[in-house]
Parts: sequence; structure tokens; C-alpha cells
Amino acid sequence: MSNASDNCAVKIAVRERPVRQSLINSKESSVIGYHPNPNILIVEERPFTFDYVLSPEVTQAQVFEDLIKPLVKKLKLGFNCTALAYGQTGTGKSYTMGLDSTNIEGEHIGVVPRVLKEIFSAETQDKDNTENEPVFKREISASFIEIYNEKVYDLLAENSSEPIIAKGFRYTGGSRKPLTDINECHAILTQGSKNRHVRPTKMNSQSSRSHAIFTIHLRCILRNTNGEESIISSCMNLVDLAGSEGVRRTGHQGVAMSEGVNINQGLLSIGKVLQAMTMGSKVIPYRDSVLSSVLQDSLNLNSYLTLLACISPHREDLSETLSTLRFAQNAKQLKNTPQINSI
Ligand code: ADP
Ligand code: MG
Repeated sequence: MSNASDNCAVKIAVRERPVRQSLINSKESSVIGYHPNPNILIVEERPFTFDYVLSPEVTQAQVFEDLIKPLVKKLKLGFNCTALAYGQTGTGKSYTMGLDSTNIEGEHIGVVPRVLKEIFSAETQDKDNTENEPVFKREISASFIEIYNEKVYDLLAENSSEPIIAKGFRYTGGSRKPLTDINECHAILTQGSKNRHVRPTKMNSQSSRSHAIFTIHLRCILRNTNGEESIISSCMNLVDLAGSEGVRRTGHQGVAMSEGVNINQGLLSIGKVLQAMTMGSKVIPYRDSVLSSVLQDSLNLNSYLTLLACISPHREDLSETLSTLRFAQNAKQLKNTPQINSI
């Protein structure tokens, strides 16, 4: 693994999952090759360059240290941040993001519980070590939603099986649960992931077609020596996207084309939003899907973005792997210039 410059607001990582258990005894070798240059991976003799190339041996702890911890630092300084896991179903998106409450202990814990732990442990340290203007008060809250079939479900609401918003309405956010310690974080994650799983069976069979977004909201009230207050609020979206299979891209600019009825509207629109941002378009098509409209406040040139593209070692998945790599390469063109959200 290599270290991309900390100053770059957009980071693109590719993570190869380990060989599936059922295929572990087959003689098949991975279609993913590694280059002496740690930023390059090779598929079908073709090199792809990314900020981070993560082989199956890379641990959850390393993923957090290298890719996510820098975002937590930015969040605390008042920047909006987003980490997106993109890829075919079964390539480790949910594993990486840690949105499944069964993995909240041990080495397998993923991004979300690690971020929450980091915020709370760093919170204690900050109290004795405030930089610039002292933080008078810090409020942390979380929301957890799922988008399925162009509808938003609030996983922390009492009635999480009723959609809170459908296409055409402005999304104003899911319920925000205040967080004061790490145990509350675990409770929220457990509640949300349980609600995700008990949705009617029709939904479960479609779970690879749903996006889950865990958002951490941070609000800092600063008070200077004259007693004047200012507020900085920022959020971090941790996004476990639906399986990208069926989403095909054509042309060098990555224009997403629909193919049949199984196309995931949200993923297509994210591709279009990233493309419009890359091209410097004045109008970014956030309204094309519920997913892009929900992410509007953090998927813009003012925010930090880390894309985790998850890929499979198996030959049968090769065309999806290439499609994911192309999506990730297109995102590499982004040049974000984040600003602090101060009120
Ligand atoms: P996705 O969310 O992309 O559909 P999952 O995260 O559910 O895929 O992963 C599928 C299975 O593979 C899970 O059982 C998961 O624990 C396992 N898995 C994925 N990536 C890794 C990894 N890097 N290390 C260990 N197990 C993994
Ligand atoms: Mg998943």
C-alpha cells in the first residue's frame, strides 16, 4: 500500500477481496496482478493506477488508518467528507464499511465503528489540546438511512419500514440520534442494521439493490476570548452502495448507459454527478435520483471524498471488475477544493 498526498481531497482506493471459500480449492488464480509500484494493479495485462491499491491481505485496521482516519481529522476541522464503497455484490463493500452490527468487535470491524471509536477517543484528547479558537461545545449525532427503489427508509425511526421520502421531494435528513459515548454508537448501529434486515422479504431479496448511508454530524460551537461565538458544522457520510452489477459504462468519459430494467438508478446518477463535477459543469444532476439528492451536501467540490472500489479475484467476475475499475478511474479526475462550513 502506498501513501497518497494528504493534501489531495479526492482519494481513490481499490480493494481486492480474498478468494471465496467455495472456490478456495480450485486451481484458479486471481485475475488481479500487482506491480512493483504499489499504486498500480494489473488486470489482463492492463495497468490501472490509483491512490491506494489494497490486496486481500490488507487488514480492516490498515484500511481505517490509511484511508478513513485522515477524513475524521478533516471532519473535526469542519469539512464535509464522504467515503463511498462501490462494487459488485459480494466484493466486500459492507464488510469494509462495517455497517453490519455483527462485526463490532475484533479485527474484522469495519469503517463505521472505527470512525465512531476514533471520534470519541480523539474527543477526550482534544479537550486538553484545543488549537486556534477553543471549542466551547461539541455536539455529535448520527443518522442511518437506507435507499431502496428510489425511496428513503429511516433505519433509526420507530417505523423504519415506511419510506420517509420518495422521488420528487426534498430530503431533509433522517432522524438524528445524539451521541455521547461509544456504547450509544453501538446501540444505533445495532438498531439500524437490525431494521435493515427485518424489512419485508421482498426487500431482503433485493438487499444488494439498496444503499445504506450512515451519517455522523458534528457541530462545534467556538467561543473566542471576547466571548464571540461561531458555529462550525460538518458531516461525514459513510456509504455502502448497492451492488454495481448491471451498471455498464461506455465511452472514455464514462457516460452511464442504461441496460435493461435492472439498472440501478442511484448508481448511474452518482456516476453522472461525478462526471459533471469533473467537467466543471455549472449544473450537477443531483435531482436525477434519490441517492444523489441525499448526498448533495457532501458529494460536491467542497468536500473530501474517498472512493473504495471493491473488486473480486475471480475470472467469472472479470467484466464487473473492469467496470468497477473504470468507474474508479473516472472518479480519479475529480479536483475538489474543500471549504469549512462555518456559520
Ligand atoms: P458486498 O457488501 O459487497 O455485497 P460483503 O461485504 O457482504 O459484500 O462480503 C461478502 C462476504 O465476503 C462476507 O462474508 C464478507 O465477510 C467476506 N469478505 C469480503 N471482503 C473481505 C475481506 N477483505 N476479508 C475477509 N472477508 C471478506
Ligand atoms: Mg453488502
